[in-house]
Formats: sequence, structure tokens, C-alpha cells
Amino acid sequence: MSDKKLRDLALDASTRSHSPYSKAKVGSAVMTEAGHVFQGCNIENSSFGGTVCAERVAIWKAVSEGHKKIKKIYVYTDAGWPPCGICLQVMTEFASLDLEVTFGDKQGNEKTKKLGELLTSAFTPDHLK
Ligand code: ZN
Repeated sequence: MSDKKLRDLALDASTRSHSPYSKAKVGSAVMTEAGHVFQGCNIENSSFGGTVCAERVAIWKAVSEGHKKIKKIYVYTDAGWPPCGICLQVMTEFASLDLEVTFGDKQGNEKTKKLGELLTSAFTPDHLK
């Protein structure tokens, strides 16, 4: 799957965002090592602690369908925001620190960074072995 297609799927997912409080529509698309793709959008809750980011929704959908190895992830917001720290931490559970994390904006600008660049000194499952 091309990076363009992954972007299109992330953008598509953002249209289903439930974000009545922040008004920030976020979409994500995760590609697994087996080539399956899962989409996610941010889902806010009036009890703010119940809010979940688009990246985690996509990852949890993948994992709940039996796909625990993530190869690529794309995050779309109008402003091109990077993933938050909680989402980066969740990514370490299902991907190596070499995971390519791409975040793009409305104008088509993109940045791609390794997970390990975004979350330095990551706490990974290896620490619990
Ligand atoms: Zn997040």
C-alpha cells in the first residue's frame, strides 16, 4: 500500500471524528506487517479521561482483530500534529522503535520520523523481561 493511500485512509477516518469539545478532527491509518490496514478517529467524551486518540483507536482495532505487529502509521490532522506521548507509548508495544510514523496536514505537508526519534528513552516491553 502506498503512503498516499495510507494518508487518504487517515484523512477519511478523520471525517468520522467525535470531537465536540476540541473540534480537532484526527484520523489515523495503521498498516500491519501482514498488510492489513485499520483506521481510527479520535473519540472524545464529556468525561475527558474517557477520550481516546485516533492512533490508539486504529491500533486497538488492529490488535482486537489479531494483528499485533505494526509496520507503518499515518496520522492526519488539519494542522499536522504529531502523535501524543500516550499514543507513542502504545506504539512501542506493537512496533519496533524503527516504526515509521508519518503525520500530515491539510495542505499535504508531511513529516516522517522513527518512533524512537519521537519517544526517546522509550519504556518498552523489553524492560519487563
Ligand atoms: Zn494520542
